[in-house]
Amino acid sequence: MEPDRCIFCEIIAHELPAYIVYEDENVLAFLDSHPLFPGHVLLCPRVHYETLLDLPRHLNAPMLDATQLLARSVEAAVDAEGTFIAVNNHVSQTVPHLHIHIVPRRRRDGLKGFFWPRQNYKDDQAREAVRNAIEREVQKWKREDW
Ligand code: AMP
Ligand code: ZN
Repeated sequence: MEPDRCIFCEIIAHELPAYIVYEDENVLAFLDSHPLFPGHVLLCPRVHYETLLDLPRHLNAPMLDATQLLARSVEAAVDAEGTFIAVNNHVSQTVPHLHIHIVPRRRRDGLKGFFWPRQNYKDDQAREAVRNAIEREVQKWKREDW
């Protein structure tokens, strides 16, 4: 398979079967084959981009609009109390085509919110150093035209 063509590209091309719930000119969404809960949906841009960082800006609004539409629809369809919306970028990403997970949630559903152990900053200086480094990068990236 070419590097810029993957199993999600095949689903988008209707060459590989999937339980599609929504498609428009920019995006396509289908049921995750191994859901965290029934109703777990994956939303992809039609064009193959690997991560959220690679998505061109003109697709940001279509992707977020569809995320919102699907979150509302999933929540109502399976009578959920909320949703968890997530993207793995490279790390823990098993399919190299950007996909937004839209997962229906209920209180006491067994998923403990952010299910990873949390840390504290060593001290205020360490926290400020990280804040400052991110702020500087934001200023740099804001000048880039990606
Ligand atoms: P991630 O680990 O964030 O890359 O998520 C990939 C997701 O794709 C997993 O939740 C898989 O269950 C799901 N998945 C993999 N192959 C298929 C497929 N052919 N149809 C539907 N979902 C799939
Ligand atoms: Zn792809």
